[in-house]
Order: sequence, then structure tokens, then C-alpha cells
Amino acid sequence: DLLPTNNFKFGSHPDAVKMHSDIFKKMFAQGTPDGCWIGCNMGCAKAVVNFELRTGPYKGHKVLVDGPEYETAASVGSNLGIFDPEDIVELNFYCDTYGIDTISFGTIVGFVMECYENGVLNKERTGGLELNFGNADAALELIHQMSRGEGMGKIAGLGIRQMKKYFVKQGWGDPKFLQDIGMENKGLEYSMYISKESLAQQGGYAMTNKGPQHDEAWLIFMDMVNNLIPTFENKAEALHYFPMFRTWFGLVGLCKLPWNDIEPEGNSKTPEPAKVPEHVDNYVTIYKAVTGKPFDKDELIRMSERVYNFQRVFNIRRGYGQRIHDAQPYRAAGPVTAEEYTSRADRYDKQLKEIVGFDPAGKSVEEKMAVLRKHRESQYEKLLDAVYKRRGWTPNGIPTIEHLKNIGMDLPEVVEVVNKYL
Ligand code: SF4
Repeated sequence: DLLPTNNFKFGSHPDAVKMHSDIFKKMFAQGTPDGCWIGCNMGCAKAVVNFELRTGPYKGHKVLVDGPEYETAASVGSNLGIFDPEDIVELNFYCDTYGIDTISFGTIVGFVMECYENGVLNKERTGGLELNFGNADAALELIHQMSRGEGMGKIAGLGIRQMKKYFVKQGWGDPKFLQDIGMENKGLEYSMYISKESLAQQGGYAMTNKGPQHDEAWLIFMDMVNNLIPTFENKAEALHYFPMFRTWFGLVGLCKLPWNDIEPEGNSKTPEPAKVPEHVDNYVTIYKAVTGKPFDKDELIRMSERVYNFQRVFNIRRGYGQRIHDAQPYRAAGPVTAEEYTSRADRYDKQLKEIVGFDPAGKSVEEKMAVLRKHRESQYEKLLDAVYKRRGWTPNGIPTIEHLKNIGMDLPEVVEVVNKYL
């Protein structure tokens, strides 16, 4: 139940087989690695060649399309209820050509489609576009309008955060519903995992400096699939270590994919397989060899901590770095609608009974949803407390002076910013 479908309502769909990787593999024409640089031994890029476009300014042209990667296929595909690989490749091409991020586009249009299906939008408000889930023609027309800054495309191009404000201002829809289904945090649209059953991934998305992407902490497999971090402390440790470790790749200018996309033999038998310890040792060795400076794996994390905390302070200065800004839309944590609850009723009823201690027998879906929501929201608040404590931040998410001193970031300009919130 991981693949976002219809604006993150569900994590699977019977038609998802139509966009299975085996089908895309047949479309990829490149048989040789085509990476960012000639020395990369992973060469993770791929392309569809001679793809004939059916819409837009290049209609009828045969083009090369770079991708799609998983995130693109999920965002412009299943998240919009679109399962035809040809439509996915065409949307991928026009996102790239217009310079629009595929993930943001898919998450934005998923929100727009759910608004359309719920009467927040209608044909009159969209300028005639029937933006139901699954309508690939409408999604393609929307991206062309977006590129020209016209009609509904111009409104969608504002992004979810601004669209929510715009709809409320127009008197379109219930603000609370828009907040619950608008998959954004800190103004960035969510990337492509259903996090409802993974508390750690909820934190990995919303307890970030950059907003909900899969770069800082990608914990869904550790947490939900392999159950390696069951306690709040385990999750908090992971939400400390992995964002720091991943930040380090940016500091030294290395691609992070070879770190854990390839695992050395015997990695699964090490005490902490998710960290890929042998590769961490390799990075330490390489850093020492290149710089000639003393270095170890603890200093690697400290180096990132300095930058990560500085980024947090930068966010605070820009008005975004407090606890309130780490709040998530409820769609990321649980079922917003009766349709979602009912589709997974066995799971939710079981959790109410066994985890929450609430007997669901004879209760309405609305009652059960309210109790489940209260529970899941309180779990997230507890996780925030645990993560902030581990990161050396106050309960409001502000780095303490003591922590800044410990990591050598108690610079006067930094202290001046945080002091206003301590
Ligand atoms: S593994 Fe990294 S460096 Fe290599 S092609 Fe992929 S993104 Fe580029």
C-alpha cells in the first residue's frame, strides 16, 4: 500500500499493473549506461526514444524522453488515476520541456482533481476542463496552459499552498478539507510514498528543512516494510542520523545513490544494515585521502549537523522553522474521507481495537475516523517531541544555544536569530 493513487488517497490500484516496470522497460531503448558522467558505474539514467507526441506545441514530433523514474511515473501517473504509460511519458516530456518539476506537477494536479471531484472546482471554474482522476487529456491541456500562464493552468501553477489560499478567498470549498487533502508542507509538494502507515516517514517528510521530499530521510522501508525502528527513540535516532548523513553528500558534492542502492555482500548481517557501514567507512577513507585531514564517521555527522542546524536557523529567520511549520496535512497520516476509511476498514478497525483500545463494533465510520485521527495526530506530536530532543532543539523546534555551542555553530548572527525564540 505504498503507491500514491488519486491524490494520495490510496496506496494501490488494480490498474497499476499497466504501468509496471516491465512495461516501461520495453519502451526504454537505451541498452547502455547513460549517467551524469562517464565514470559513474551505476549510470542510473534511461530514456524513451522516437516517442511521438500527441499534444502541445511539439505535436507529431518524435522526441527523446529522459525517464520516467519511479517518482515521475507515480506523480503524473497513478496519483492522477492515469495508468497509460504513453500518457505518463508525454507528461514527463512536457514537464521537462517546460521546466516544471514532475513531482510537484503530479501532486498539484492530484489536489486539483480531488477538488474537481468534490465540487470545490467545476467546469465553469476550470474554464471547461473536466479534471476528473484519470483524464489524461485534461492533465495535458492543464500543463500546456500552465506553461503559457493561462486559465486554470495559471492557478494550478501557483502550487498547492497558494491555491488553497486562492480557493478560500474565492469562497470555494471548506478550508479544513483543503488543508487535509493539500499535500504540501513548507510550500513544497509531497513526493511519492503513502506515509499513512509509517510514522517515521511522516517525520521524514514534514520534519525537514526543505519540505516533504525523499532526500533528507527516506525511512519508509526501514519503518513500515522491515519494522527496524519500532520505538519513538528508534525513529527519532533515524530522523537525526539519516538527514545528517544525507546532507553530507551535498557538502562534498557526491551522488548518494551508490551509498545504499548497491549493498556490499554481507551488509544485511551487520548490526545496522540501513547505514551500509562498509560504505560509510569507504567515504571516511576517501575524505581523508583527498583532504589529508583527520576524519571519522562521527565527524562526518557533526559536519552535517553544523549545516543542518544553520539551515534550520535560516528557515527560522525566514519565518518557517518552528514546530507549527513541521505540521503535516492529515492525508499524510490517515484517512481524510469515509471512502478511504472504508477501503481499508479491516486494518483501521483492527488498529482501533488493538492499539487505541476503542471497540469499533457498531460505530459509524465518522466516529471511527475521528478516534483514529486523534490517535494518529497525538503519535505525530510525540514523534516531534522525540526528534527535537534528539536533534538538540527546544519543544518548539529551535536549536538551543547549548547545542549550537556543542557543534561549533554559536556564531553571533545565528545566536541573535534563535534568541528571539528561546
Ligand atoms: S548514480 Fe548518481 S552519478 Fe550515477 S548516473 Fe545516477 S544520479 Fe548520476
